[in-house]
Formats: sequence, C-alpha cells, structure tokens
Amino acid sequence: MYYSENRDQAGEYLRLTLGIISKYNLPADPTCYSVWYEYISGNNQPLKKAIDHTIESQKPITVSTVNRFYQTYIADKNRAMTEKLLKEVKEILTDISRYVLATKGELTGHGDRLENLAKELDQAEDLETISAAVDHMIQEAKSLVQSGKHLQGRMTTSSEELASLRRQLEQSRQEAKTDALTGLLNRRGFEERLHTAMAASQSTSAPFSIIMIDLDHFKRVNDTYGHLVGDSILKAFAAMLKQQVKGKDTPARFGGEEFIIMLPDTRLAQARAVAENLRVLLATREWKHKESGRAMGRITISLGISQYRSPEPEKALIRRADTALYAAKQGGRNRVITEDQLPAPALRKEPATVN
Ligand code: GH3
Ligand code: MG
Ligand code: MG
Repeated sequence: MYYSENRDQAGEYLRLTLGIISKYNLPADPTCYSVWYEYISGNNQPLKKAIDHTIESQKPITVSTVNRFYQTYIADKNRAMTEKLLKEVKEILTDISRYVLATKGELTGHGDRLENLAKELDQAEDLETISAAVDHMIQEAKSLVQSGKHLQGRMTTSSEELASLRRQLEQSRQEAKTDALTGLLNRRGFEERLHTAMAASQSTSAPFSIIMIDLDHFKRVNDTYGHLVGDSILKAFAAMLKQQVKGKDTPARFGGEEFIIMLPDTRLAQARAVAENLRVLLATREWKHKESGRAMGRITISLGISQYRSPEPEKALIRRADTALYAAKQGGRNRVITEDQLPAPALRKEPATVN
C-alpha cells in the first residue's frame, strides 16, 4: 500500500477507515484496512463504484465481501493492466495485418508471420509473453517498412505506437515484481531471481543461502500505534535492508512483515554473519513516534537461514529457512538460527505446512 496524502489528510482518512471497519464489525487487518482506506481516499474509483453499488443495493458487507473487493480491485490491478495492454497490442496487430492484406503480392511472407503473431497473442496471459510478442511485432514492422515503400508512413506510426506500448509493458512488468510499500522486490520478483540462482547453482555448483526474516511482535506495534505507523516501520526496515544488503545479494518483501534475502556464493556461516549484523543493527536502534515524540522502544527481528541443496525444489529450501525462523521465535525471538542448528528432521517441531 502506498499512499501519498499528507499527514493530516491521512490521519482523517484513517479515522474514517476505522469508523467504517467498526460499523461493519470487520477485523482491522491489512486487507480490510487497505480496501476501506482506498475507498475513503477516492484513490481507487473502480473499487469505490463497486462498494457504493453493494451498499446501495443493501447487500451485506462481510469479511468475504471485503476480501473479494481486495482481490478484484487491489490485488488484481496488475491483471487488469495486462488485459488492457494485450487489447492494445492486438488492435495494432489487426491494423498492420489490414495494410498487409491490402498490398498482397508485394508483401508475401509477412501475412503468415503476422498470423503467427496473432496466435502468440491469443495464448498470452502474462506480461512476459506479451512483451515477447511486442518485440516480434517491432521486428516485423521494421521488415515491412523495407518490403513496401508506400507502407512506410503507416508503419512508422505503428512502430511509434509499439514503442510506447513497449515502455508501458516494461513499467508494468517492473511494477508487477515490486512491492508498492517498500520498493523492494515482492515475492513474485524474488521467486524469479531464486529460479535463476538455483539454475546457476546447479550448473556451477556455487553455494547460495537464503535468510528469512520476520519482525517480532509486529501485531503489537500496529495495535499500539496504528497501521500507518506500522507501515512506516516496514518502509524504514526495508530501507535499512537496501542499505545493508548489497552487491549480488537481493532483499525482498516476502509478504506482510516477512522479508527474505538471497545471497549467491554464500554458505551458512557467512550468511549468519550478514543476518547477525542486521539483527544487532535493528535491535540497538531506538524508535520514536514522529508526531507525539513519544519513545517507542526497540523493534527486533527473528531470522532463519538455509543453504541450497541442488537439485532440491525451491519449496524445500524455503521450508528449511522457515523452520529455522520458527525455531528462532520459539527460542525467544531477536535471534538468528541456521538450519544446521536444528534437531534431526523427525524431532523437529515444525509449523503446520500446507501446499
Ligand atoms: P511474531 O513475533 O510471532 O512474529 O508476532 P507478530 O505479531 O509479528 O506475528 P503475527 O503473524 O501474529 O502478526 C503479524 C502482524 O503483521 C499482523 C499484521 O497486522 C501485521 N502486518 C502484516 N502486513 C502489514 C502491513 O502491510 N502493514 C502493517 N502496518 N502491518 C502489517
Ligand atoms: Mg509473520
Ligand atoms: Mg512477526
């Protein structure tokens, strides 16, 4: 969630948001909070329209209605963007095809290639595939310009449209991989990097490790100071990660108040040193509530570390880091546990896992 309102305005929105949450007897969790905050602030018009419609038709507003609003109008925003871009690409392709048909004979070969592009687009569901198709279209447009002199003007326009689409696509692709609140990679972006690192490790046998991080007692922070302060702390922690984790190492927001770091060419012991450094840095920092000037005390993190065992699947690597993190929580929080400190698998007290 990234909101750019000034503080007074944000405070007023927050008050109204909490009023609605209590009116409908909803939990004050991040999902409800973002839905109603976006509703009140008017930042998200499609969401506002859908909610107004539900209220006007006197349909009940329950947790599941709110979750549905979240999924459709907040979480799936990227999907809506993908669909919009796909539609535009298809329109340009149809346009180009029409011109090619009008000059048949002169442009033999292009028709087939455009047909293949149309097929490619029909199967496209994600930004990567659309991007690849746009790249092919740009090549095709260039080659059309060479084939038919009198098409030049028309193709130049198409090429410009395609280039502008290319930029939009690139931006959307980046946004889809970025966490809006912290600017770090999100889980999806992280998993992409992880796949690349896993493939590299399989071919070069270079070790790599991951560190899972969870903020301790973060619910208490939210309950005491409110979600906006909670959000600011998540942002500040992310900034600290960006500053501390450099070079080949990649930090990301894994979800909620959980973060993850991937460290290529790094074994458990070296990863532990990085983790320990972060833990101490945070644990010695005093936080102050900006508005009231009130001391907020310290915020700590628990960290779990695992090292990749080629060719295991990504889930297994993450699960071991998660188990180590769980052990760090069980051990009293504000600590680092590496997977080699865990008891043998049969004796481990692991959190319940789902697929
Ligand atoms: P533990 O030490 O066991 O991790 O305790 P905890 O309170 O951190 O753990 P729990 O999983 O019970 O709660 C996590 C909290 O993190 C609850 C949720 O409101 C908060 N949280 C998750 N995402 C966000 C967010 O984007 N913004 C804010 N402000 N809070 C968030
Ligand atoms: Mg957590
Ligand atoms: Mg936590």
